Amino acid sequence: MSPCTRMAEWIPLYIDNELAASDMPLLETHLTECHACRDRFDQLRAVVDNIRAATPLYEPSPGSVKRIRAMVLARTRACGGDGSSRRQLRS
Ligand SMILES: [Zn+2]
Repeated sequence: MSPCTRMAEWIPLYIDNELAASDMPLLETHLTECHACRDRFDQLRAVVDNIRAATPLYEPSPGSVKRIRAMVLARTRACGGDGSSRRQLRS
């Protein structure tokens, strides 16, 4: 796996603070050396910042949250559980 392929997986984790602390220096060094990954990082960071800055248009009522949760649950079951089977079909 090329370093850039690995970084592409790490960048979203890094932005979400989910990247292993031991991997961070590697990513940070790579971002200073690789323009393509730096651009990818900046773009994703901007998108995530926008999403975090956006406030919901309205608060869903408890009733609709319950309904949506039931719909998602029914759909998840229809797809065969936790979605892992669907992932296997795609690959
Ligand atoms: Zn790179």
